[in-house]
Amino acid sequence: MSSRDHRPKASEVFRNSNLVFAQKVSFEEAFPQIEDITIMGEEFSVGGPHGKQFCSNPLCYRGGFSVGSVIRDMVRNKETEREARGLCQGNEGSPKVQKIYRKCYHTFKMKIAIRYKEAADAGAVS
Ligand SMILES: [Zn+2]
Repeated sequence: MSSRDHRPKASEVFRNSNLVFAQKVSFEEAFPQIEDITIMGEEFSVGGPHGKQFCSNPLCYRGGFSVGSVIRDMVRNKETEREARGLCQGNEGSPKVQKIYRKCYHTFKMKIAIRYKEAADAGAVS
């Protein structure tokens, strides 16, 4: 039982960080082919109710970047590594007056590494 060193499983990472689909679908259900995933970002902060990274722009209102869509794309293309960039989806403004001044220009940069499970049905040669 204790012969294996403890590494966080993808599901644990998912649970701890709410990265992808925080609500309905578990990580394993959404991406059964992923064994392990690592996300490194310059200012990667965990959390967000919709699996987004938070924006560091203090004026930003409803900002963030959806990592889940990038992961989905990577899985579709069977990519193991990608440096992703995404423009913040938020706006600079004030939630109180619901006024938008301008679009937030914050760009998220991150590196995503995925290790896939050994394909049982894809005829993988190793
Ligand atoms: Zn922003």
